[in-house]
Amino acid sequence: MNFATKLLHGTCGIDRETGASSIPIFQASTFHQYDIDHPGQFDYARSGNPTRQALEEAIAVLEGGERGFAFASGMAAISSVFLLFSSNDHIVVAEDVYGGTFRFLTTVLKRMEIEVTFVDTTNLQAIEKAIRPNTKAIYLETPSNPTLKVTDVAGATAIAKRHSLLTIVDNTFLTPYYQRPLELGADIVIHSATKFIGGHSDVVAGLVVTKTEEIGNKLYAIQNGFGAILGVQDCWLVMRGLKTLKTRLDQATRNAVQIADYLSQHPLVKHVYYTGLSSHKGHALQNSQASGHGAVLSFDLGGREQVKALFENLKLALVGVSLGGVESIYSYPVQMSHASMPKAEREKRGITDGLVRLSVGVEDAGDIIADLAQALQIAASVKFKIEA
Ligand SMILES: *Cc1c(COP(=O)(O)O)cnc(C)c1O
Repeated sequence: MNFATKLLHGTCGIDRETGASSIPIFQASTFHQYDIDHPGQFDYARSGNPTRQALEEAIAVLEGGERGFAFASGMAAISSVFLLFSSNDHIVVAEDVYGGTFRFLTTVLKRMEIEVTFVDTTNLQAIEKAIRPNTKAIYLETPSNPTLKVTDVAGATAIAKRHSLLTIVDNTFLTPYYQRPLELGADIVIHSATKFIGGHSDVVAGLVVTKTEEIGNKLYAIQNGFGAILGVQDCWLVMRGLKTLKTRLDQATRNAVQIADYLSQHPLVKHVYYTGLSSHKGHALQNSQASGHGAVLSFDLGGREQVKALFENLKLALVGVSLGGVESIYSYPVQMSHASMPKAEREKRGITDGLVRLSVGVEDAGDIIADLAQALQIAASVKFKIEA
């Protein structure tokens, strides 16, 4: 079955029991046991609820894994996956990893004596070099935020397999529609479903899929034990979002391609980061491991004053933290996602004071470009501030 059809007919479309056109919200914390010697499929809703189960089965089908799990947020999903490891274990992690993941690793997990080495995972040799006798996993995010560096997932998983390590991939930016890391050899896939999967900027959620039943059983013990489950109303919203995942991404990606082209030719724009541009360093690799480039791009206006002028004059945009909504969302990495990173470290990665990240929505591309054009014209008249 084609992915587009699977979203509606292979997963959480029609309720098998009642024929209802959407999976019912089972707003129940416990389940009556008709015979204590023969317990029913569900007993207590932290351990399992039919609404959550429908979403968990859906994401497992879409990623091509054995088991799916729904968590209270992307970070709850990520933290729960890291609880698979023990003190003195070592993990090799992509240096461009999501800010919240970086914080969790360098504070909580550090206190629990789980060791981490951050490497530029676009360089496979750097991954291999970082492996130690106590290394247990490689953790990737591709393309990365906000400069969209692409890591060779099959190359990284081949290294992992040689050293008997797990490969974990945060697939938030591309979703299973464009990229399926388990098919490239990974063991665990993670999503912030707050972003493209939910898709409407109205729910915070996380999802995990494991390739095998064995890893799934270990993660289930953590989901049930740690308890960071997704509530049933939010499960329903995520399933509602999933039904239009392909349609939304098709439109947003078409828009992103046009906007990236427009920005590349604009005199105020110093650089555009988008894997769909043939000039992007990861373009060919992305084409080989993903079926699309997604709807997130970044561009550099040279200075903070220009960014401020742009944001103040855009009319069709939400300016804030997040991405993957139906509306275009502009964010400012230096003061938002990467605020805690030292300036020197940021600049080394291209995260300059002039960098803007744009998560393209499903509006009309011509309207977004016209809006950008008028706001960029004003931004271009703002003088560059000479740094003291
Ligand atoms: C947003 C995000 C997360 C964290 O997800 P939350 O739902 O906000 O907890 C993790 N990884 C990536 C790539 C993200 O964009």
